[in-house]
Amino acid sequence: MTNYEQARRMVIEKVAPVGVERVLLLEAAGRVLAEEYVAPKDMPRWDNSAMDGFAVRSADCAPGTVLKVTDYIPAGVSSEDAVTPGCAARIMTGAPIPPGADAVVPIEETENTAETVKLLQQVKKHDHIRFQGEDVRSGEAIMARGTVIGAPQVSLLASFSTVLVPVYRKVRVAILSTGDELVEVGTEPKESQIVNSNTLALATAIKLCGAEPVILGIARDDRDSHRALLAEGLKADVLITSAGVSAGDRDLVREVLAELGVVEQFWKPGIKPGGPTAFGMKGNVPVFSLPGNPVSTMITFEEFARPAILRMMGHEKVFRRTVRGVLKEGARKKAGKVNFLRVHVAIEAGRYIASTSGDQNTGILKTMLRCNALAILPAEATEFAAGAEVDLHLLDPTLEMEV
Ligand code: AMP
Ligand code: MG
Repeated sequence: MTNYEQARRMVIEKVAPVGVERVLLLEAAGRVLAEEYVAPKDMPRWDNSAMDGFAVRSADCAPGTVLKVTDYIPAGVSSEDAVTPGCAARIMTGAPIPPGADAVVPIEETENTAETVKLLQQVKKHDHIRFQGEDVRSGEAIMARGTVIGAPQVSLLASFSTVLVPVYRKVRVAILSTGDELVEVGTEPKESQIVNSNTLALATAIKLCGAEPVILGIARDDRDSHRALLAEGLKADVLITSAGVSAGDRDLVREVLAELGVVEQFWKPGIKPGGPTAFGMKGNVPVFSLPGNPVSTMITFEEFARPAILRMMGHEKVFRRTVRGVLKEGARKKAGKVNFLRVHVAIEAGRYIASTSGDQNTGILKTMLRCNALAILPAEATEFAAGAEVDLHLLDPTLEMEV
């Protein structure tokens, strides 16, 4: 394994779900079920009609038979009166099957008046009956721990009238930008000042993981400012910093984190962009020190922080889907580091075709806009001909949808 692969593995091995809470079904969308769900009852709870029609005794029912209609059972009503030989009960979808009946004849397969019903077709025992427990049995382990909650899961829980569902707690992710050159969004930067775009970009990426960003603001390039804000950040579940992580004399993040008791696990995981990325742990709190260049910040968040955050919220699938695809244009790089190529992937004749999403210079932010995948160029390779096969990390889960 390369440094990069080891680093990615290490990050998710160091973290674990942060806790469990019970939330209302309305709050459960996209969360991860923290306990196996065992059905408390049979579903359906009683034998019921699958059609609007007539509850009958199948033994009475040769085609052409005329039965007397003796009862009416709309949805929401149950009848104690047995269907007797020669008789039928008018019944609506969902209503309980009355005693004596063993089949339902859909209204479309009859000629009927208020008093009688003529059967036009053969009727078999159990036709159009939904049986108690045929969907889910009481005691059945119907959803495993780790299930991501979507509309079908909520539908099932709601059908059992379950109000609260145990899910993994949302992870609180503290974000700290560092640098004397930074001013906050909305301010007019003087020459040499840079607008702090990373904080909001990271907050957005964190929200899209289903986690909760905690914005700490900007640390200035001095130890006191770093110490105060990093210490604050270590109270969250995860701490992410931007910039100040290279080897410059103003790059204080790693040093001050070490003073605060963060044990560094790796620095410089052999990648480009994102070279100086560092990762440490303090107790259960992972700390991602990402480079300040906005492109590098986003790519390293994507590759290292996102999988960790997802794991901490109970997700089992934490990496983006990786597929093999082909490069539309050739590429070259230096040996030694894994390179992330920002690409736009389209599916053509069943193959993933990756074309560059723009200038690959890390200073070019615009190239991120059309980027829906990262092409992973292996560390030791240097030349990629047009048509070369590479791994693609698909960033866009809708990539395979029709428009
Ligand atoms: P550094 O990692 O401190 O060397 O910063 C690398 C580059 O990223 C510099 O051009 C910074 O001005 C820029 N940068 C650092 N922090 C941010 C930020 N929060 N938002 C936008 N750009 C930043
Ligand atoms: Mg700096």
